[in-house]
Amino acid sequence: MTVACTGIGVSCGTGIVIGPAYRLHHGLVRVDATWVEGRDQDAEVQRFRDAVTGAAAELRTIRARIPPNTPSDIVEFIDTHLLMLEDRAIAEGPVELIRAEGCSAVWALQQRRDALVQVFETMEDPYLRTRKDDVDHVVGRIQKLLLPAASTDEETEDLTGRIALAEDLTPADAILLRHRGIAGFVTEFGGPMSHTAILARSLGIPAIVGARGSTSCLKHGEPLILDARHGIVLANFEATALAHFQAAGAAAQVRIGALKRLRREPSVTRDGRQLQLLANIELPDDVVAACENGAEGVGLYRTEFLYMNRLSPPTEEEHFEAYHAVVAGMGNGPVTIRTLDLGADKQVDGGATLPCTNPALGLRAIRLCLKEPQLFRPQLRALLRVSAYGPIRIMLPMLTNIWEVLQARALIEDIMRELTAAGTPFDHTVPIGGMIEVPAAALTAAAFARHLDFLSIGTNDLIQYTLAIDRVDDAVNYLYDPAHPAVLRLIHNVISAGRAANINVGMCGEMAGDPRFIPLLVGMGLHSFSMQPHSLLDAKQVLRAAHAGRLEQQVAALMAGLDSSDAADLMAELPRAE
Ligand code: PEP
Ligand code: MG
Repeated sequence: MTVACTGIGVSCGTGIVIGPAYRLHHGLVRVDATWVEGRDQDAEVQRFRDAVTGAAAELRTIRARIPPNTPSDIVEFIDTHLLMLEDRAIAEGPVELIRAEGCSAVWALQQRRDALVQVFETMEDPYLRTRKDDVDHVVGRIQKLLLPAASTDEETEDLTGRIALAEDLTPADAILLRHRGIAGFVTEFGGPMSHTAILARSLGIPAIVGARGSTSCLKHGEPLILDARHGIVLANFEATALAHFQAAGAAAQVRIGALKRLRREPSVTRDGRQLQLLANIELPDDVVAACENGAEGVGLYRTEFLYMNRLSPPTEEEHFEAYHAVVAGMGNGPVTIRTLDLGADKQVDGGATLPCTNPALGLRAIRLCLKEPQLFRPQLRALLRVSAYGPIRIMLPMLTNIWEVLQARALIEDIMRELTAAGTPFDHTVPIGGMIEVPAAALTAAAFARHLDFLSIGTNDLIQYTLAIDRVDDAVNYLYDPAHPAVLRLIHNVISAGRAANINVGMCGEMAGDPRFIPLLVGMGLHSFSMQPHSLLDAKQVLRAAHAGRLEQQVAALMAGLDSSDAADLMAELPRAE
């Protein structure tokens, strides 16, 4: 058995796909410097302009073929690419180079692309870095028309059961590939937060992204085993390996079927403690998967996704429509909407962007929103207006200081007065909570609990800041340890502070949906667990098998022994003790 390549698994369904490889040629081709003679420059400019027009026509065709029930953001994504095709840097920049230096169209295009990409690459924020991919997708379309030899007739072939191999894929490509029957895909580039990875999850396509070298070591047509659970692709495998993965896929399928039966069962432990299982969502359409997997509500709606794939910030009405759709989709379940968690380099409305050497520690999230009320107000107005239609909760991210809560509350009260004066209905008692994801806030959680209606622990950032490791840097990924004693102490402190203040404490970081940690968190007294929809039924199974009273005793002993023993060893005893 040969593991041909590894990458970041985007697992959904069984996470296993067995099928022939299908090499796509959507990536950019690097071209050599080439020039045209003076008198040919006009013709070369025309050729370039025709390619831009052709690329726009292709995108419009894709837009028209998007299947129904596709997240509306995808249409916006294609619209953004259409707008980029009109942007001076892409539509006119190469023309200037053709005229001024006599560059060939492809060479001029590549130079402009490199200059643009360099700007995006200096941005440390992962969301913004994905904009670099947008540039490449748009440039790739133009290039394909300028280099017809590089294009293939891939638009119509039936791809049922195949595993697509590509340098990278646009979400538009992923949708069309799904439509044509693709069963999985492997890309050289892209992180777990790339547009395409997010979409793969919501389309239910197991995938591996960031699999460097995959397009050169995997061959078109050869049989592959893709295991998205472990981020590996196998080629040249033996019959025993095939049998192993077929059996694993079949077992996973049976397990998924059995788990579905838990959908309507209560999230209650063996000793009768009622807990809450909520969904993390990125797009309003994710509510469908949340409901299918029995979510009792939404514990985290990451609203910054509203800002993606567009050139201007959403209007108050756009905010309102998105939140209203989620509230309507969830029925009576609570919907926790997080206010903008944009980074310092993600200002979208022309506000002053300060030079920022470390965006994770910079002007992001609540800090940015309080500094730029013109960015914050439309969202808060929309949130309050939506509160008249269902049980929403407003959640403030990245809190560090109590005065941030007080300022945000003052702004919310000001908007409440505005809405009252205008006769606009809203819920005067809408809960306002905060994310505890900075160690300073976790250590002073009792004070936050006095000023907020609920707390939600964001372990993704809490672990990053506590252990001083960049959560998006692969090089320090091995240090990302949710069971580090320092992390466990902080989480324990937040839960205890919330319970003492008699307010709801939840968790919406990835740790909440990890079955390895659920018994520990139950034992710490956590009430709400919010996670990506596909983890909900697994989590429910673990919760329903747990005995909260006994776990509390065991965890109390574990916390007392944290300094003298290895936390991982102590924790491993929890499920066994059940
Ligand atoms: C977190 O930090 O745990 C969290 C849920 O927020 P995000 O992953 O969006 O930063
Ligand atoms: Mg966070």
